[in-house]
Amino acid sequence: MENGKLYLVATPIGNLEDITLRAIRILKEVDYIAAEDTRHTLKLLNHLQITKPLISYHRHNEEVKSEELLQKLKMGKNIALVSDAGTPVISDPGEQVVKEALKNGIEAIPIPGACALINALIASGLDTKEFVFYGFLSVHKKLKKEKLGQIKKENKTVILYEAPHKLLNTLRDIQEILGDRYIVIARELTKIHEEFIRGTISEILEKYKQPKGEHIILIEKSDQIENKSENKETIEERYAYYEEQGFIKNEIIKKIAKERGVPKNEVYQYILKREE
Ligand code: SAM
Repeated sequence: MENGKLYLVATPIGNLEDITLRAIRILKEVDYIAAEDTRHTLKLLNHLQITKPLISYHRHNEEVKSEELLQKLKMGKNIALVSDAGTPVISDPGEQVVKEALKNGIEAIPIPGACALINALIASGLDTKEFVFYGFLSVHKKLKKEKLGQIKKENKTVILYEAPHKLLNTLRDIQEILGDRYIVIARELTKIHEEFIRGTISEILEKYKQPKGEHIILIEKSDQIENKSENKETIEERYAYYEEQGFIKNEIIKKIAKERGVPKNEVYQYILKREE
């Protein structure tokens, strides 16, 4: 008997319109849908008017369920794997069943669609030519800091997923290890409260006190920061920016010195020249 196919189907990350015609057709045609949270997926299927047997497939049963899915695939059944939102297998379950399927000569077929990190990146205004995605940082303090030490060495745009209740602490950890870098927070993408918050970590911590909803942290690549700190023009531009925001001279000098990691006096010298 011919093996079935394993489809990896992207679903919306908020706005239910963000699903492709092909994804809908595949969900209608397969024999089973393997879902991270079956109740959650049921809402999407009801919206699409699709009725299909669901198999629960999540982090804690991935090993056992991979075996069950594999048996069904070997029996010629086609399966669509979905996660709660976005592209499955990316910071979501699925890697194990994909590996097992391939080992058994079963094709894994990607069905493209919404992916939170890509949409955050394209509208971030940061460098998109090279970027690196680290997913969620560890909940263990030591491992988290070790990973941030590794991230510090990257000179590419860095993308991280984070839960809202951990966001502020993670921003403080990034600030401690990487310095007061320029970042972008992409929040609630494709939803009513979609928002991009841009600024240095200290600026964002000052104004963003109670994170709600889903967030992605994007960190500007580090060599841009170094170039800026050596560049008089950019410091002047930064000064003008803070001036427009109503900050007084001493506050601006303090802010620029902190975000560039240079002594206040150095910034002060630039400002003096500007005033000459
Ligand atoms: N596999 C999904 C993807 O890549 O599209 C991501 C799943 S992961 C478990 C969930 C994380 O993705 C959230 O904590 C958040 O960091 C990010 N995320 C998902 N949907 C989002 C949205 N609408 N807006 C902002 N971030 C989102």
